[in-house]
Amino acid sequence: MANLTTRILILATAVGILAGVNIVRPWEDDGPSTQLGTAGVELGEDTARIVERVAYRQEVERVGDVIVIDGQPRDDVAADLDELWAIVDATWPTSLRDELAQLSVVREDERGLVGVVHPSVTGGWILSLDIADVDDRALIEETIVHELSHVVTLDNEVFTFGEVDGCSGTQIALGCAVAGSVLSAFAERFWPGDVGSTQAEEFVNDYASTAAHEDLAETFTGWVLGWPLEGATVEAKIAMLSADPDLAALAADLRARLLA
Ligand SMILES: [Zn+2]
Repeated sequence: MANLTTRILILATAVGILAGVNIVRPWEDDGPSTQLGTAGVELGEDTARIVERVAYRQEVERVGDVIVIDGQPRDDVAADLDELWAIVDATWPTSLRDELAQLSVVREDERGLVGVVHPSVTGGWILSLDIADVDDRALIEETIVHELSHVVTLDNEVFTFGEVDGCSGTQIALGCAVAGSVLSAFAERFWPGDVGSTQAEEFVNDYASTAAHEDLAETFTGWVLGWPLEGATVEAKIAMLSADPDLAALAADLRARLLA
């Protein structure tokens, strides 16, 4: 039940790809941010990469991490992470593998966390999943589909976290979507002034109504996975997403993998 799950994109970004202490916290009151280890990361020296520590809004127990290089685990995957990694490996498209920098596996007692992505200092993303869901493969796949839409539409070439002076496209609470990007067009049309509709039927589920980027992500997920969706506004949203070449390619890739 997608509307009962919580997927959060924590408002955090790390800038500076050299040894990792150069952290930006765009929202002081937001708390969470990417926390780097002591050794930091230098692009081009992947073998020396250390696990990036991210902060979560929820209390979570850390189970373990998989550092991903060129799309594959750098080290042997620990036995207790193996099953989750296998699902990620089967779901995450080859064409976007260089965007996956790390899988972080947590355990969250309150069942508030299903999945989350954080920007990595590598320029890619850290995907966190809750090991409590490991037996619900469909939920994990759905979560990865959702997070992948963030990976594509919040890429640093089309999106800047935080309040951007003179944002060329559309400023939403999360950041600035550049002019011409699908998130910018989506927010302009369906979230004018960054305010969503009050009509529940204009969203694929409750979670979609929480923010423009989550509306995009949930609508994309429903479209890719073939949820029974209806309504003129939902159809207009799907039409916009399916007309975007990057999202359309991702959708085709995901359908091929998930139906295989
Ligand atoms: Zn999300």
